[in-house]
Amino acid sequence: MPIFLSTFSARTRRCGRQNSCRMDLVTAPSGETPVKAPVVEVEAVDVAETVNAEPGALDEASPQLETDSDDSDGWEILSNGDEAEHTIQLLRDEQLRNGLVPGACTLEEAIAFRQRLHAIGKAEFVEETIVRETVTAKKLCTAFGIMPPAFLEGAPDACFHGLLAIAISREFSRRPKLPEYNTVDDAVRLLRESKNVIVLTGAGISTSLGIPDFRSKDTGLYSKLEHLGLSDPQEVFDINVFREDPSIFFSIAKDILPTEKKYSPTHGFIKLLQDKGKLLTNYTQNIDNIEANAGVLPEKIVQCHGSFATATCTKCHFKVSGDTIFSDIKEGNIPECSACRQSIEAEALKPQGLKRKRSSNGYQKDRKDSQDSSDEDDYNIPTPGVMKPDITFFGEGLPDEFGQRLIHHDKDLADLVIVIGTSLKVAPVAEVPGVLPRNVPQIYISRTPVSHTSFDIDLLGDCDVVVSELCRRAGWDLQHDMIPADEKVDITPTEGYESRHVFQVVGA
Ligand SMILES: [Zn+2]
Repeated sequence: MPIFLSTFSARTRRCGRQNSCRMDLVTAPSGETPVKAPVVEVEAVDVAETVNAEPGALDEASPQLETDSDDSDGWEILSNGDEAEHTIQLLRDEQLRNGLVPGACTLEEAIAFRQRLHAIGKAEFVEETIVRETVTAKKLCTAFGIMPPAFLEGAPDACFHGLLAIAISREFSRRPKLPEYNTVDDAVRLLRESKNVIVLTGAGISTSLGIPDFRSKDTGLYSKLEHLGLSDPQEVFDINVFREDPSIFFSIAKDILPTEKKYSPTHGFIKLLQDKGKLLTNYTQNIDNIEANAGVLPEKIVQCHGSFATATCTKCHFKVSGDTIFSDIKEGNIPECSACRQSIEAEALKPQGLKRKRSSNGYQKDRKDSQDSSDEDDYNIPTPGVMKPDITFFGEGLPDEFGQRLIHHDKDLADLVIVIGTSLKVAPVAEVPGVLPRNVPQIYISRTPVSHTSFDIDLLGDCDVVVSELCRRAGWDLQHDMIPADEKVDITPTEGYESRHVFQVVGA
């Protein structure tokens, strides 16, 4: 069950008496985020979505409500048990800007409220808004992107306090945009002046090379998987599915396997940062290992989801260099472990009486040692284990290196974060921007903006085009045969956002 940023729940109750509910502040999430955790899919928050209100959550968030509710007649529990689930709708900034939500804040008001909250903290913010009654809780909810639920329509304003507490807490734990960075010139200046850049990359930087974005539901690899009859295409990357039937993975592995030594202009940009001594770390979610083709040094790369660079036997854990199994992968074969095969052959040469019975039966998920099988009648033909590329499957832990480096090395050194070609929907990689000190500027480069995390500058468009134009403006020489020498790029500001700019090649 995907649970992250987007999913929050609340039990909302109707109060019968005005002022009987008191707002209580939700404890701020502690700064320490557990970074090393299994890969978790984060639901999109940047699409119009609804979240189910689950019973109980509001009590945790706002215990004060509970102590005030001594008289049960004053409270009508609208959601008890699994009887009724209310849906809370999240508002996007676009909806506020277009003024389509009756009674909501304007986008300008919303931004001012958010900035004020981050500037003075939660207690004081509540004091100067709700306590002094300068704005209703119902309206204030909209400033933090929460639509007052229909079932509370007409209820006293105090009934919105619980929801507001959650809204405020949610906003407060979010990194606020730094107001001083907005323009393309700001981005160029940051590039030139920064010394320790963290570059966070995703599938979008490899798509121009024809490598499918395997998370994209429409254009990516997933659409190619329907013929495999999978209920959820993610199953291809599910470790349990792999252990049961590795042929599913190996039937598509050749499509994501890097074959040529090519790289995109964006990979070239990362290498250029390295050449200029500015690259602190490239955290990549990609498993294609293309950064290496561009010449990015292994010590500068953290492959957050592993890579094809090495492969490990699922049975005996023998490790080989990835290219050892590339020919098998390209032919769609299931690569077998040579170490297992050798020991099986050695076993076969032994005199009959000394042979051990083996429980190994090919591609099963068990990692039991062969001695485990003491069942006399159970005769199995021994088979070698399957070589699994060391990419991180759903259900597997991330490589240790990720959190170690981020927390103990990069966190205090980074002076700029550039996120390129990823919608940041997979935790914990998605948490990187939130883990870093809030004064470190963050630039976002991708085709579409995200709203579940706020960047200081959004540079929208083909990332190869964006980085090549940034380099041009910085006076840097980014050479790549995919960048035409006479390329001209148009930059258009997005209406209503002073920090959002769309890049487009002239004539494209
Ligand atoms: Zn093996």
